[in-house]
Formats: sequence, C-alpha cells, structure tokens
Amino acid sequence: MEKLKVLFASSEVVPFAKTGGLADIVGSLPVALEAMGVDARVIMPKYRSMKDNGKETKIGKDVKVYLVEHDDYFNRKDLYGDKYGDYADNLDRFAFFSRQVLERCIKENFKPDIIHCSDWHTALIPVYLNTIYKYDPFFENTRTLFTIHNIAYQGLFSKDDFPKMGLDWALFHIHYFEFYGKINLMKAGIVYADAVSTVSPTYAREILTKEYGCGLEGVLQAKSEAVYGILNGIDYGVWNPATDTKLVKKYSVDNYDNKYINKEALQKDLGLKVDCDIPMIGIISRLADQKGMDILTKILNDILTMKVQFVLLGTGEHKYHVLLEKMANAHSKNTSINLKFNIVPAEKIYASSDIFLIPSRYEPCGLSQMISFKYGTIPVARRTGGLKDTIEEYDPGSGKGTGFTFEEYKPEALLAAIKKALSVYQHRSAWRELVKRVMELDFSWQVSAKEYIRLYNRIRS
Ligand code: ADP
Repeated sequence: MEKLKVLFASSEVVPFAKTGGLADIVGSLPVALEAMGVDARVIMPKYRSMKDNGKETKIGKDVKVYLVEHDDYFNRKDLYGDKYGDYADNLDRFAFFSRQVLERCIKENFKPDIIHCSDWHTALIPVYLNTIYKYDPFFENTRTLFTIHNIAYQGLFSKDDFPKMGLDWALFHIHYFEFYGKINLMKAGIVYADAVSTVSPTYAREILTKEYGCGLEGVLQAKSEAVYGILNGIDYGVWNPATDTKLVKKYSVDNYDNKYINKEALQKDLGLKVDCDIPMIGIISRLADQKGMDILTKILNDILTMKVQFVLLGTGEHKYHVLLEKMANAHSKNTSINLKFNIVPAEKIYASSDIFLIPSRYEPCGLSQMISFKYGTIPVARRTGGLKDTIEEYDPGSGKGTGFTFEEYKPEALLAAIKKALSVYQHRSAWRELVKRVMELDFSWQVSAKEYIRLYNRIRS
C-alpha cells in the first residue's frame, strides 16, 4: 500500500524557529507520524535564525523540512514583528509563503494527500487550492486540514490590501474573507479547508460558542460536522528529565529525589535562599491577558508574602514587564523575574519548581502542564480548554488526581487553588505520591498521532 503523504505547512517549527506551542507541535507530530509509516514532510519560511540551513533540512529520522526563501520577507530579526508592532507587510509575506508551498510541491513532484495547515499564516493554502489551483490536475487528490492553535490570532488586514493575495475581489465577501470590513485569513481558511481541527476536545467545543469563538463561532458552527478536537502530545525526546542535558542532575520517577538537586542549584543560580523545603512556584508563559496575567498580578503580592519562592520566565505585554519588575524589587528575597525568552533555560524551571501556574483565561491545549508532569511539577491551572482535558483535580481525601484547578476566572479563585496546593505540599508523603503519579502520565504523541491518521483518512474518503 502506498504511504499516506502529509505536508505540514507552518510558520514556525522546533528546532528552527519558535514563539509558542505551534512550533513544538509541528516539530514533533510529523516525527511521530513518520514512525507510524506516514510520509510526513514539513515546509516553513527560511528565517534569519536559520541562515546556514540551505533550502532543505530535516527533523526526526528523515522528515524533510523544505525552506521557503525570500530574503526581503524572512531574513529579519523576528518572526512577525518588532518593537513597533506587527510587520506592515505580514500579508505579503504569508500570502507569498502560502503560494510557495503549492509551487514547491510541484517543483519537488510531491503530491500530498493532505496539506496540514496551522493558523492564519497558512490559511491561504486551502483558498489557493480551491481557486487558483482548482483545476490543476497535480492537486486533484490533495485535501486540506486547517488546525487552529489559537483562535484569537486570526490574521486581520485592511481591505485595501486585498489585491496583494492575487484573488478575485468577489471573495471579499461575508461568506469568505470579509470580517467587519477587514480581511480575515483564518475565516477564509476555515471556509475553504476540507476539515478544521483544534488542539483539544474541550477547545473544539468552546470555539463554537460566543465566549470563546472570537467572532468566528458562526462560521465554525456552520461547519461543525467537520470540526475536530485532537489533544496535542509532547515530545519526550525533548522534554524528559531522564535525558535532559540542561539539568544539573538528570532524574526519572525511580530517582526523582534528584529533582531537588536541580532545585537547590537553581535557587543558588537565581540568588534565592537555598532551602529545599520552601515550595517553589514556577511559571513560563507569554505575558498576555490570555495567559491569566491580569488575575495573577492582582494576587501576586499575596503569594509573595507567603513562605514560597516565585520564579517567572516570560515575555510579552509591556505593562506586565513593568508590573513584574516592580514586584520583583519589592520582594527580591523570594522572587526571580526573568523577562526574556529562555534566558534561564525553561527546562531548569520545569525541573526545579514544585508548583507550576497556568491561570489561563482560555487555553487551546497548553503544553506546559504536560511538560510539568514529566518533570514532577504539579500544575495549578484554570479548568478550560486542554487544561481541563489533561488535569484531574486532586482530591486530598482519596489522594487521587494530578493537579489543582479553578473554574471562575477570578483572582480569588486562583489564590484559593494555590493555597490548596501549598497545603498539600506540607503533607510530604501525599505530595511525593502526587509527584510520582504525574511523572508516570503519558502525553506522548502515540495516541494523538493515530487520531490524526484516522482524521486524514476520513478527509480523503
Ligand atoms: P502558547 O503557544 O499559547 O504560548 P503553549 O503552552 O501551547 O502556549 O506553549 C508554550 C511553549 O513556549 C512552552 O513550550 C513553554 O515552555 C514555552 N515558553 C513560553 N514562554 C517562554 C519563555 N519566555 N522562554 C522559554 N520558553 C517559553
């Protein structure tokens, strides 16, 4: 039987370029599919950070990664914008990329069964396939899956830019691109794709509602029989304390006491008191309202006056940088605020923390709770999206559960969940049981990759 051929088109892919979870996924799902006998390939822009990588590279054993070159568009310091905001030519850049994805298929004589697109940067691919390339026999058997990693980022552009996409003006219409007078790439991607998926079953249901749909709930409802939710996996080849070279001491569930050697080393590195008994609360996150920064900053003072250490790694909105720096100055003894990407390796924080905060307003899937589990770190998270699908509330009575969650998006609810976690932390044997249990959870791609194969086959049939 011929292999299933899947081309992943993405604007970011680990290990080449990453601003968020999207890159982790496109860097690992194709590798898991390859191991299951799929001919999986990847295509992405060639950014400045990957200058020496030529026109093609690979991930996994032999997953080809095609690079789309255009120095004016992609040879830049950052992926989507600079300190002044989004790059003004983002529509030109990603319309170009999307066209090139199809042209490259032709050039390589690679006829994918499925082009798996991710987020607005690649939303024009299903559009082009159904317009400019509609009668091209090369793509006769090519279908598209459009995955929404975060519905809040839709790729909105001024109507005046419409001609840049090379499409008929008739498509600037409420049924296709038009969204309150603007171009909405994600909307058109949803309309034209053969199927739409998102990254957890709960988020797939949530985006059909007004509260979470960010204005696209109607378009999604109209297509709801073709909207799927498949939980992301994580790559234990990357996220694994037993093999992690960034750690001072590697560990696994059999010798998880070594986790605390890492904790003490990080305490020392960050100038915190070296004392293993003090609970360390970690957070690694984009500093945005979505991630719950508004409710967290409201109770941060309460947290920092408790006997805890607080370690944050993140970048994002300026107002949070200012606020967090202020907090760090006021509580310098037990606080370490690191406002950069990976300035302290994320792995060290996952390994050293006892508790990991994910207070998101909404969370399509979330990777950090799954990474935390593997490193024996217990999440305190809001019960939404993928967080709801992956974290089971801890019950002190039965000792069952895997984390601490809260429902209402309120500072007090977050604080109560943190306090509950801290009280369980004081019961060392219960905490140790909890740590061991979460380290044994399995969120590898095994299950989800199989679900994707089923979905690809369903789209083809
Ligand atoms: P999102 O994609 O919405 O930002 P996810 O939880 O899906 O959120 O993925 C976030 C990924 O980015 C995780 O791997 C997390 O560890 C990483 N990350 C976020 N901020 C930073 C940072 N400042 N430095 C290093 N890694 C970060």
